[in-house]
Amino acid sequence: MSQETFDNVMSWMKECTTEHLACGSGESYPLPRRVLDVMARDEDVLLYESEGQEAQYMCLSHCWGNSRAITTTTENIKDHKKGIPFEMLPSTFQDAVLFCRKMKIRYLWIDSLCIIQDDEEDWQRESALMAQIYRHSYLTLAATASHSDEEGLFYTSPQAHVFGMLQDGMPYQMHARPAVRHFDDAQFPLFSRAWIFQERMLASRVLHFGRQELWWECMEALNCECGGVKSGERLGSGREKYESKITHQRIISTASLAYLTIRWHNIIEEYSELNLTKSRDKLTALSGIADQMFRIRESRQIRHRRVHHSSERRYLAGLWSDTIVSDLLWFRKDHTTSSFPEKWRAPSWSWAALDGPVKYWDTVGRNSTDPDHISPLERRASGTLVADHHIQVLAGSTRPASGNLFGEIVGANLRLKGQLLPVQLTRGASRYHGNRFEFRYFDWTRNAVPFFADYELGTLELDGTPVLEESNGYLLRLMTDEQAHEYAMVLRKTSQESDMYERIGLFRTNNLYQNSANEYREHFKDAPQTELTLV
Ligand SMILES: [Zn+2]
Ligand SMILES: [Zn+2]
Repeated sequence: MSQETFDNVMSWMKECTTEHLACGSGESYPLPRRVLDVMARDEDVLLYESEGQEAQYMCLSHCWGNSRAITTTTENIKDHKKGIPFEMLPSTFQDAVLFCRKMKIRYLWIDSLCIIQDDEEDWQRESALMAQIYRHSYLTLAATASHSDEEGLFYTSPQAHVFGMLQDGMPYQMHARPAVRHFDDAQFPLFSRAWIFQERMLASRVLHFGRQELWWECMEALNCECGGVKSGERLGSGREKYESKITHQRIISTASLAYLTIRWHNIIEEYSELNLTKSRDKLTALSGIADQMFRIRESRQIRHRRVHHSSERRYLAGLWSDTIVSDLLWFRKDHTTSSFPEKWRAPSWSWAALDGPVKYWDTVGRNSTDPDHISPLERRASGTLVADHHIQVLAGSTRPASGNLFGEIVGANLRLKGQLLPVQLTRGASRYHGNRFEFRYFDWTRNAVPFFADYELGTLELDGTPVLEESNGYLLRLMTDEQAHEYAMVLRKTSQESDMYERIGLFRTNNLYQNSANEYREHFKDAPQTELTLV
């Protein structure tokens, strides 16, 4: 790293710690339970158990990649506390250690070395604290351009030197380097990892090590060495790519409760696009953001003195009890239906049960970064634009796998009261939004209506005829929005005897089918109120 580059980092750091209120001044915090001490030995590092002393420390955000070079385990922790030879560390860790020393910061936190990887209890406890570990770090180093720990932090950008002779015999020299490509996804392999989302959003400041340059991201600034990136912009190519920390910070610090619901849906949309190595981490890798959102929603509620029907706000497997109806309005984004994850990790009504990206209806056509879009929502919140909710939540609960209330769960259920309508599910020829599944109102009309299946409903016949003579599915009426669109969950009974159902899709009336909404309302007119449990 050149002196010029390092000086740049120091000046960003200085501006951030002295001028940015949201970022904090870089003070000391209690150290994480374990950190690497990078100054205890000349060259080597050691694993240090802190017992809560206060000091500045840095974090590393990285893609493990396929290399599992070195981790801390119950077997080697004793050795690691005595020392870890520098040459045993993968390139990215070595570069991070060197950078800490140059910054004169003694402690470095790296997940694979500071959490005991084969100790389930240690992992549950430390992963629950991860949000705080990143939030309190002096600076988070992000190996943004690296696919694995072997690639290192520092890149030397390719440069070309051209020598020649002009026609008049004068020699010339040209130096060139490739134009910096700020919106090329290939520059950000780290960003495609699910864990990185909260590490980046919760850290007060992040130094990204790119392939061509370094850039800086904190709560109030976004800077790069070449000056080509401007504050507030999204990163990566494509309209819906990674939102900056500035945007996140601005929205959570100013938005109303109604708008925070949209923000949450935007977060789920972005997060559900990202890749997880371990399927069971789906809720855990977002638990720090959920925790942050919980606190903000609580404080917003008090500030507005809004009394809600439910005295207690609960986090229900990625949804919120007080906005449950709009939180249920997710649907699969990609139209290739896939199967459910093999091992249970969330109830059928949660987006977290699915692999792959989801969308929400209330974000369609809206850009969460555009404040002009807040006003209709504010009007909705104040009651002049009202959506009709058709279900009543009688009870909702989850069973956390550990002390982390926002993390992994081992069970969940939702007890609802609403109108339930039997329908016949079929696999149809329709290509509306690429959906291949339809339903028919049972025993009434021959028109089949497409809906958004959550996954491949394998047991349905291909030619559009229902498998069963009787109804094999149900619509649960959810909501009528301000534009009079109707929304229903598509359900299936989990057993014939009980009142237990699972969600298999979402239905929304649409303009392509002229009578869709009228027909729907007609069918629901006499549907009785039913109590049911969703699993
Ligand atoms: Zn800052
Ligand atoms: Zn740049």
